[in-house]
Amino acid sequence: MESIYNYTEDMLKEYWISKGEKSFRAPQTIEWLYRHQITSFDEITNMKKTVIEELKKDFTLGTLECVTHQKSKDGTQKFLFQLEDGNLIETVLMHQEYGYSVCVTTEVGCNMDCQFCASGMKKKLRNLETKEMVLQILMVAKLANVRVSHVVVMGIGEPFDNYENVISFLKIINHPLGLEIGARHITVSTCGIVPKIIEYSDFDLQVNLAISLHAPNNKIRNQLMPINKAYPIEEIIKAIRYYINKTNRRVTIEYILIKGINDSIECADELATLLHGLNVYVNLIPYNEVVGKPYERSKKEDMVAFFDWLKKRRINVQLRKEQGSDIDAACGQLRSKHMKS
Ligand code: SAH
Repeated sequence: MESIYNYTEDMLKEYWISKGEKSFRAPQTIEWLYRHQITSFDEITNMKKTVIEELKKDFTLGTLECVTHQKSKDGTQKFLFQLEDGNLIETVLMHQEYGYSVCVTTEVGCNMDCQFCASGMKKKLRNLETKEMVLQILMVAKLANVRVSHVVVMGIGEPFDNYENVISFLKIINHPLGLEIGARHITVSTCGIVPKIIEYSDFDLQVNLAISLHAPNNKIRNQLMPINKAYPIEEIIKAIRYYINKTNRRVTIEYILIKGINDSIECADELATLLHGLNVYVNLIPYNEVVGKPYERSKKEDMVAFFDWLKKRRINVQLRKEQGSDIDAACGQLRSKHMKS
């Protein structure tokens, strides 16, 4: 039986109409699932018994089993969840001044093979279903007892390699009768799958886009990110321009600083030239070292110099503070240590 958390409003409408019910049952269902967060269909009070019986016949609610829940000194929390098929995924909750933000995982493993990343050390076993992403939000909110106001799709996996399910997930968490997470509070991060960036630009919701660039030219990027051979930097910049024209929204450029690889002043200058005139915001991220990988974090003074150079060249930039590194929950540290392979 299928979980009802896989269903967007449109899918629920279709379902209810096929049952001879009116389409208003769809928003009603959403309210019960995400506003009241029912744990059994029997808790629904504004539907006839026979209608509820139909729901029970056709759907499960489903849950994720929380295997471990760790708390960092800085307030970051990490959850290890077990899926129905036994696979394990990680989800991170961050406390920011503006609210609570969840970092969502989209795949079991990842196929992108970015050389510096821990997650890609496990090959992708499968896409997460929509419900498994929705449940990450519901479960974290419940277990930590918080209201989730922001979502970043930056956990394990490449969201644009699981596009359909991610889009359904975004529609569900954004629904005004449900979790009501504002589109402007949602960011999807991609390693640069160009056709999907274009498709995403045409998507109705005004959700944010982040690009993991990490290099100012193809030579360095090819070394770090094999996906660059399929979609080189010029193509990515073209796609970013398309997204900005289409949505009028600023794009976040993520750039990890790796010692001796991409952290020189020449790199900063080349990056500034590449991004010149584009409505982007550069997030400089200190590299988190990964056991078994040869890369090291840049020296503090090199990070500052890189930052200053971009500033001088009038690029919007911030040097990000890391969170949760003491519980392996910082950027790129998620790795599902216990994942079956
Ligand atoms: N596949 C998507 C989202 C998941 S990765 C993407 O590539 O954007 C989330 C971010 O963490 C990406 O920018 C990724 O490049 C970065 N990252 C991966 N490993 C890291 C590490 N060891 N230290 C810092 N950031 C890392």
